Amino acid sequence: MSNAGLCQVCENARARHTCQSCGTQVCTDHWDETIGACSACAETIGDPDDPSTGDDRPDGFRID
Ligand SMILES: [Zn+2]
Ligand SMILES: [Zn+2]
Repeated sequence: MSNAGLCQVCENARARHTCQSCGTQVCTDHWDETIGACSACAETIGDPDDPSTGDDRPDGFRID
């Protein structure tokens, strides 16, 4: 329970955001403001070369 309120990525800084894709609470360092997701999801969402990212993301889909 000691992790409550901490970034679930680094567990070293206070969580400021909750990823809308996976629900992970992350600090500002692990938050992608542009995409609105944690750093892990940002990598997945932000990679147009990966066709396997067909998860149900109604507001995460981007067309550039
Ligand atoms: Zn962090
Ligand atoms: Zn996430």
